[in-house]
Amino acid sequence: MGVLKYFDLHCDTATECCEKHCGLRSNDLCVSLEKGRRYENWAQIFAIWLDDGRRGGDAYRYFRRVAGFFADEMKKNADVVSFCRSSAEIEKAAGESKEIALLSIEGSAALAGSLEHLRDAWQAGVRLITLTWNGRCEAGDGCKAEDAGGLTPFGFDLVREMNRQGIVVDVSHLSEPGFWDVARAAQKPFVATHSDSKSVCGCERNLTDDQFREIVKGGGLVGINFFEKFLSDGHATLDDLLRHVDHFLHLGGEKAVAVGSDFDGCRLVEGIRGMEDMDRLHGLLSEKFGAETADAIFYGNAYRFFTENLG
Ligand SMILES: [Zn+2]
Repeated sequence: MGVLKYFDLHCDTATECCEKHCGLRSNDLCVSLEKGRRYENWAQIFAIWLDDGRRGGDAYRYFRRVAGFFADEMKKNADVVSFCRSSAEIEKAAGESKEIALLSIEGSAALAGSLEHLRDAWQAGVRLITLTWNGRCEAGDGCKAEDAGGLTPFGFDLVREMNRQGIVVDVSHLSEPGFWDVARAAQKPFVATHSDSKSVCGCERNLTDDQFREIVKGGGLVGINFFEKFLSDGHATLDDLLRHVDHFLHLGGEKAVAVGSDFDGCRLVEGIRGMEDMDRLHGLLSEKFGAETADAIFYGNAYRFFTENLG
């Protein structure tokens, strides 16, 4: 077991494992519970990802299927990992040096437009929801929807209800009008779990400087995504990744920047194969920004946020 603490806001590993019929403990993917043992503390938000082809009852059933798979995996591996649903459970698991697992939904289409299903999601242990994927859903428009607008009336209700129940709102993938609707409606800090800087790489999935500042102002988080296409227009390298971090830090993001790897859901930047290479990235961040900032990005910022905002 190493000394590094590592908190990742987004991976698609649980969905991938469910699809490929493999286990979370040991697999050929970027993230596994076995690989996590190398870190002193490791916290991972596992996303149930819904393709934009799934809507209505189909989307809801798919969410139930992956959530059921995840719950089984958590039970089977309870000797090493703790499925955390509250601040207290996160603190307890961290104190016992157990792996910390949180569950999220990527695409609120999983709720099939019903706030009752939000209660089901809460009961299944979901504590963060990415409102949209790239397309249009009941809550609003994703960043690639045609003539993208903002939130729908249901989307506004959803944000309000999530704030009330203590489920974190995630704006990664959301359209820009949708983002500003969330900023207006949110009563609690919100996050972008896996988005980079649009000033550094002008892709539609990235955040403008104004969006980033708004998240910082509200006390939220932004997870740096390792997807090569979000890091650079050309061939992305770890230097490009550092440029995104540098830019966010210049915008006042010292307490907001975190890691949102997108492991097992994207084509990775050269130099990172999976979570086994996080020591290397931490080394590069330490060299460039100092050990304290590297630790905050890797663990401290996200740990503080989730122990303060989950109730
Ligand atoms: Zn995503």
